[in-house]
Amino acid sequence: MKPTIVYIALGANLGDPIGTLLEAIDDLRELPQVSQLQSSGFYRTKPVDADGPDYINAVVSLQTTLSAVDLFSHLQRIELDHGRERSERNAPRTLDLDLLLFGDESINAEMLTVPHPRMHLRAFVLHPWLSLHLHCNLPKAL
Ligand code: ADP
Ligand code: MG
Repeated sequence: MKPTIVYIALGANLGDPIGTLLEAIDDLRELPQVSQLQSSGFYRTKPVDADGPDYINAVVSLQTTLSAVDLFSHLQRIELDHGRERSERNAPRTLDLDLLLFGDESINAEMLTVPHPRMHLRAFVLHPWLSLHLHCNLPKAL
């Protein structure tokens, strides 16, 4: 089965955000049926429409033969493993994993919308995503 190219946004602003993001990236790399993980650098950003500590944000790309729904359940489990509690919208969090793109699939399920409907509005997603993309494509462009 041909792998799908996936982009995931990571964010954290409670606890040890850099440590948590590093661990979450390892968790993603070690998932079954996942390969070729590449991470952007880490970016420090102010919370959007909320108060609280600065966020650390990053975007990873990976390839997988998992379905979008199976990958998404892994993302939710990894959030919970890192102490994620769901309270009000935009509340501070120990780890947020958002599925941005799953190949060219369009998904409109109750729990999962892909492409992520707000990704294009969020500089803390677009900036790392673009840097990852430029970085990955640089050798080809030279
Ligand atoms: P946000 O990431 O927008 O700050 P949350 O992390 O609290 O918000 O997620 C709210 C809900 O968004 C979750 O219950 C999840 O099921 C849903 N959701 C829908 N599409 C996606 C997606 N592509 N990636 C992550 N969560 C999604
Ligand atoms: Mg989220």
